[in-house]
Amino acid sequence: MVMSVQWILVCHGLVTLLVVVSFLCGQWPIFRGTFIERIHYFLTFGAYDYFRRIVGVICGSRGTDALLSVEYYCCDRPNPILQIIYLAIIGATYYFIVKSVFSYIPGYYLSEVHRLTCLLAVGVGILLFLLTSYSDPGTVNAENVSQYLSAYPYDNAIYLEKECSTCKTLKPARSKHCSICDRCVARFDHHCGWMNNCIGERNTRYFMAFLLWHFLLCIYGTVAIALVLAGRVKELKVVYILTVYYGIENSFRSLAPHVVQWLLGSYNTQILLMVFLAIVSLLLAGFFGYHANLCLTNTTTNETFKWEEYLSWKRKVHEAKVSAAALKASISGLSSERQRPESKWRAFFRRSRLEDVEVVKDNIYDKGYLYNLHEIFFPLSTRPSFSQAKSKSG
Ligand SMILES: [Zn+2]
Ligand SMILES: [Zn+2]
Repeated sequence: MVMSVQWILVCHGLVTLLVVVSFLCGQWPIFRGTFIERIHYFLTFGAYDYFRRIVGVICGSRGTDALLSVEYYCCDRPNPILQIIYLAIIGATYYFIVKSVFSYIPGYYLSEVHRLTCLLAVGVGILLFLLTSYSDPGTVNAENVSQYLSAYPYDNAIYLEKECSTCKTLKPARSKHCSICDRCVARFDHHCGWMNNCIGERNTRYFMAFLLWHFLLCIYGTVAIALVLAGRVKELKVVYILTVYYGIENSFRSLAPHVVQWLLGSYNTQILLMVFLAIVSLLLAGFFGYHANLCLTNTTTNETFKWEEYLSWKRKVHEAKVSAAALKASISGLSSERQRPESKWRAFFRRSRLEDVEVVKDNIYDKGYLYNLHEIFFPLSTRPSFSQAKSKSG
């Protein structure tokens, strides 16, 4: 009986992990072509597609129309659905921790103060969430466009001088028109559905603080619950009972399975909470690491796609040049028949030398780790030099 509960818990954990990882990370390159990518496709698109077809069959075109307008509201317009879900998740997690863990605080390893620090840590998390959600991401408008244009010069690689077709103003380099918020945002990173806001020049710092804080919050929760459980083992003298009354050998290897079994039987809610927090902390660590790397190299999520496109275009141009040169060489070889034929080896090396010309990513905005971090913490538009650029130009 106890064994079956254990297996159900293990299966529950694995399935949750699989679904969450596939949903959030399924499109990552390392999962390309694996079943995780297929689960991701099903969860993000396939399942909804089936649902739409079923609605179409049952309710006809009126049902499909209603569904399309719901889809428009949820995905193409600013809406607070994911914000509410975030608040529900953090609220429910806090509620379950208060209900199932606080009764053991203070305990053998944790003092009374953790009841307070837990509340404070969650409060700071929600404050960072509100700060990211309701701060200006760096909206480009008629008043500040000239300053943004001088703060972010065009690199003539991924950014060329261009006008935004919706706002009818020049698009400063690194900005993008967010179709959901319907505005141009400087140093655009991405539109974050969870925050119901764009992440751009002025709020990337809050966004990073949000990710780091929530990662630490989950680690704190995981460790605190582990210490509470360790404290229970100590307080109830579980090891003593097992060794003295049940005659189990007093070594870690023989005691561990019995202690784990006892914990799974008596504290399954706490263990589920711990597993949940550990999984979420891993996901947050991955997400924070990805964005921290972008910050250190002064690249935005939006630019990673632009660079991919630009580099593949460059490679194609290069290949075309190489084949044109080869064609020219063979024609001139035909016209001057007396020319000594090149040895196979030499031809081989010459060819590889031509193909080895590398297409490099030359990011002019990357000016070293320290400068890049400074730009995240003190965005160009918040510095005094930014408003001075205005008086110069107008
Ligand atoms: Zn625009
Ligand atoms: Zn947006």
